[in-house]
Amino acid sequence: MTDDAASVDTSAAAANPQAADFGFEADVARLLELMTHSVYSERDVFLRELVSNAADACEKLRYESLSDEKLAAEAGAPLVTISLDQDKRTLTVADNGVGMSREELISALGTIANSGTRAFLDKLGKDKDAGFIGQFGVGFYAAFMVADRVEAVTRRAGQDQAWLWTSEGKGSYQIAPLPLDEAPAVGTRVTLHLNADSDEFLESWRVESVVREHSGAIAAPIDLISAPGEAPQRIAEGVALWTKPKSEIAHEQYVDFYRQLSGQLDEPALIAHWRAEGRTEYTVLAFVPGARPFDLFDPARRSKSKLYVRRVLISRDLDMLPAWLRFMRIVVDSADIPLNVSREMVQKSPVVGAIGKAIATRILQELKKLADSEPEKFAEVWKNFGSVLKEGLHEDPSRRDALFEIARFASTRSEEKTRTLKDYVADLKENQTAIYYLVGDDMKRLRASPQLEGFRARGVEVLLLDDAVDAFWVTSALGFEGKPFKSVTQGQADIDAIPLVDAPKTETAPPADVGDLVEALKETLAEYVDDVRASTRLTDSAVCLVAPDAGLDRQLSRLLAEHGQQTAFGKPVLEINPKHEAIAALATALRTKGRDATRDDQLLLFDLARVADGEHPVDSAAFANRLTALLANRT
Ligand code: ADP
Ligand code: MG
Repeated sequence: MTDDAASVDTSAAAANPQAADFGFEADVARLLELMTHSVYSERDVFLRELVSNAADACEKLRYESLSDEKLAAEAGAPLVTISLDQDKRTLTVADNGVGMSREELISALGTIANSGTRAFLDKLGKDKDAGFIGQFGVGFYAAFMVADRVEAVTRRAGQDQAWLWTSEGKGSYQIAPLPLDEAPAVGTRVTLHLNADSDEFLESWRVESVVREHSGAIAAPIDLISAPGEAPQRIAEGVALWTKPKSEIAHEQYVDFYRQLSGQLDEPALIAHWRAEGRTEYTVLAFVPGARPFDLFDPARRSKSKLYVRRVLISRDLDMLPAWLRFMRIVVDSADIPLNVSREMVQKSPVVGAIGKAIATRILQELKKLADSEPEKFAEVWKNFGSVLKEGLHEDPSRRDALFEIARFASTRSEEKTRTLKDYVADLKENQTAIYYLVGDDMKRLRASPQLEGFRARGVEVLLLDDAVDAFWVTSALGFEGKPFKSVTQGQADIDAIPLVDAPKTETAPPADVGDLVEALKETLAEYVDDVRASTRLTDSAVCLVAPDAGLDRQLSRLLAEHGQQTAFGKPVLEINPKHEAIAALATALRTKGRDATRDDQLLLFDLARVADGEHPVDSAAFANRLTALLANRT
């Protein structure tokens, strides 16, 4: 921009020759080009914009005819018709709405970012409400993404003059009067002369799928005429399911809707449909699938929410909900979301963030209701999605308590039935101060774990956690109803104070004196273990591995080790059972034969503990040799 091209405010310049007020110079052609090619990330949206305008026009006519009998006589049932002409290479969107006068053509279509809908609403003195879609004043120009030339033929309701508006989207437009018989009796017809890159929009299936996707829910029905002379075909009914009252919707309609939305054929396990009123108003239709989607654990999978603003699809894959609700299928419709043109902006909108949070809260309440009223049905939901919901325990501490209310766990109490934390806490043993758990990746091995023996002997229930995420949330969760979570593999088992249920089998044998053995093992295994000690947690097994007092849970350190972080985390502690005959025998052998002669047995003992923990022996070949030697020595 050069100085002489800019308009200069001479009064300011007179007061101070350096100061001046400049008006921006805009190259309209460039601006149009920029807008049509960068405002929208997808070309498909041009159709959404034209259909939205058509629906808005129908709505406006309905409004005006409320107070004008003459208009009421003109207005028919709202209808949007899209017609394709492959020979002429045109796509036409026609409506029987309010139309435009010459002045309105100039102000609405001739001024970029001047929304006639906005002005209409201002005139009405209403802000939201009334199902209008446009308010931004740029949607119409999306047509130039796919068209070299756009014609709008229109007749303002209540006037006897029709107009033809034409533009090539290059900075100018023409308006000419049109004989009434060349214009639609009511409304507007917008014809796009498609450009060379836009053949796809001459195909009826393509147009139909775009309309169904983006505009299937708007208030006006939409017909498609797939070629000149063809009969119109209804491709959208003009009703959005979620706008109807719940009492008018049959269960089958919900199920059909869910199937379209999810692309799955199952029955949804939970359907929630509500309207939120208050600072922001919105309607939500939410489904918990009855079956697991195949890509549930794909890290790229986010909760896909369809966001509508006044029944027009704005985004079909918005991350509205937290990742731990990614199995949900939801539709949100709100008039309060700012209609920013780009999807990226919608994603970042604080209003959208707030709505997403409120929806997550409501979904948790609905799940709790289901858990209380239909525990069997909820058990199925938990089986499918519990491991995903549990991610919320780790990622979303503010939701932890709500999630603990519905969470179900496998435990040593029963092989079939899951337990809630409430169940667990209600059955605490005398002197029991913690909620005990064991984490691993294989339920069968968890149930057989030697670390559980001392707990079983005392009738203390242990939660068995076999999902990868379990190793994480248990370390950050503070506890439930004042009881901390404690791993049975971590530190000293502080369960001595809890009385034994029955006298254990080994109780009759007095514990062997294992002082020397402990010392010998410490030396032999120095490379592999942090410590060796006599155990109170073992009753039937000879040995087990636990985490050091201040160390990480065994399973968590194993997970981290798999990701190459082993060195940062401590070695395990070896616990030996002084009441076990194998330990007693080894202690005796140590005394009579000495350390060197029992070295192989000591190493074997350590490998045994590793194997019981689901790990490999330190050296498989050496382990095999030692075991073979032991078998050979049997007499
Ligand atoms: P917005 O819809 O956000 O107002 P658009 O660029 O989509 O912006 O449209 C600009 C204006 O042109 C509309 O507000 C409306 O006044 C007018 N308009 C566009 N299409 C039609 C139509 N089919 N019938 C009547 N008026 C229309
Ligand atoms: Mg519009």
